[in-house]
Amino acid sequence: MGLQIVRHPVLEDVLAALRDRRTPPDEFRRLARRASLLLIAEATRDLPTAEAEVETPLEVTPARRLESRVVAVPVLRAGLGMLEAFLDIVPSAEVGYYGLERDEQTALARRYYEKLPGDLPEAIVFLLDPMLATGGSAASAIAGLHDRGARAVRLLCIVAAPEGVAHLEKTVPEAEVFTAALDRGLDDRKYIRPGLGDFGDRLFGT
Ligand code: URA
Repeated sequence: MGLQIVRHPVLEDVLAALRDRRTPPDEFRRLARRASLLLIAEATRDLPTAEAEVETPLEVTPARRLESRVVAVPVLRAGLGMLEAFLDIVPSAEVGYYGLERDEQTALARRYYEKLPGDLPEAIVFLLDPMLATGGSAASAIAGLHDRGARAVRLLCIVAAPEGVAHLEKTVPEAEVFTAALDRGLDDRKYIRPGLGDFGDRLFGT
């Protein structure tokens, strides 16, 4: 499995502010969007393009346009904090949704909602899930995307734990993962340490 830790001084600065417990939800949302923009720029670096022609105000010039179908799939609800940034960078992207929650009895991810565009084999699919903790929900979402025929799946997260990375390596080795940080590990409540707390709660002020 490909794991890319995206390094950028602005991303490091944004991440420090995201981690800060005093950052309020409105600021947290802006920061999540800025972190996502930098991650997405890196994760879309190799999207295929095709030759095209553009007429500038002065002359016709050769150009290149994005060629492949791109699908963004935020995992509800924290992944919504990355979606606007994705659509800023790839406005033509189609959007699907996964709703996943942890079953408190089994500690396994349960899929309660799935809405995906058709024809996934033709698309490059970006799964947006900011915290890769145990890897259970990401693995379930990626397996679901594979079941629907998706061949190229990239997971974009802001903070990852080594346990989650190892779980994906074992269960969905074809996936590619982009993250801004690989943290120390999980605590006994399965929170990432040092982490930034519950991303969804901090995004929505719950
Ligand atoms: N999800 C979060 O929002 N935070 C964590 O630390 C782990 C999972």
